[in-house]
Amino acid sequence: MRVTERLKAGGRVFSFEFYPPKTAEDTAKLFNTALELKALSPDFVSVTNSSSGVTPYRTVALCGVLKVQFGLEVVAHLTCLAHTREEIAEICGGLKKMDIANILALRGDAHNVESGARRRDYDHASQLTADLKKTGGFTVGGACYPEKHPEAPSLEADIAHLKEKVSAGAEYLITQLFFDNAFYFKFVEKAAAAGINVPILPGLMPLTGYKQMQNFTQMMKVSVPDALRKGLERWDGDKDGLYKFSVDYASAQARELLEGGAPGLHLYTLNRSKAAIAILKNVKGEPAQRPA
Ligand code: FAD
Repeated sequence: MRVTERLKAGGRVFSFEFYPPKTAEDTAKLFNTALELKALSPDFVSVTNSSSGVTPYRTVALCGVLKVQFGLEVVAHLTCLAHTREEIAEICGGLKKMDIANILALRGDAHNVESGARRRDYDHASQLTADLKKTGGFTVGGACYPEKHPEAPSLEADIAHLKEKVSAGAEYLITQLFFDNAFYFKFVEKAAAAGINVPILPGLMPLTGYKQMQNFTQMMKVSVPDALRKGLERWDGDKDGLYKFSVDYASAQARELLEGGAPGLHLYTLNRSKAAIAILKNVKGEPAQRPA
């Protein structure tokens, strides 16, 4: 079933994001994670794609394994800055062979793409989205940023470009991670006022430490509420205390989002299952225990 059919079917959509591992050991760990998370019946899982353009088939292959061997519904991330139109068509052919019908169309992080690797067929995700819709056979989603994309001069300008992406064919959106729900709710309101009426799935990630918070906030320019910052400081160095604090924080965030009308949750897992399982179980009101 395609992602949009799941969204239209009503109910909440729950999904997990993975990245393609680089070693055999990490691959085995990811397969274990996928198996554990499959027990929660996610609506889909998504697989990221390096914006460097060097290894697109790692994503394609992992999508195929998750779909065929694990029986999961899969969304393939596809970045375009470092690809020509012909390369994109070839990657799409590979995805079709794997029976993958869902693509998250992305521009890719410009800082990962050396200037020589930039192909110039695409400057923005909306152009890729339009091409994918022309190709046909794919349900296309896109990324969005409740606190605005770091390069955008203002949230209003970013939303105006987001509208172009939706007009080009993005049928749903997944947000950048955020830690303050007020940004999500305001963003959804502003997007609707700008005529963006597709579902906007909030992306959440439990933090595993103070250092990680600093890295993310610097890289993604997202805000950290005082309560989160203080909690991470308080539990710094205490692995169990930190884990519990992070899971509780993300669970409370998730509950508030769903109660406020979010169409579901997209969990950034970093290929690990423990926190994702605990959060979903907390949200669904089940005891938070890891499967045996
Ligand atoms: P775009 O929609 O093209 O927007 C990028 C910037 O350009 C924005 O500031 C926008 O306002 C502006 N813009 C758009 N159109 C125009 C226009 N016509 N004229 C002028 N400005 C314009 N990165 C990866 O490398 N691999 C991944 O797998 C990956 N997955 C992601 C998943 C999610 C859910 C999210 C939120 C992000 C992901 N990213 C990934 C990061 C993403 O690639 C970067 O944030 C990137 O910088 C922007 O990608 P985009 O698709 O949002 O770009």
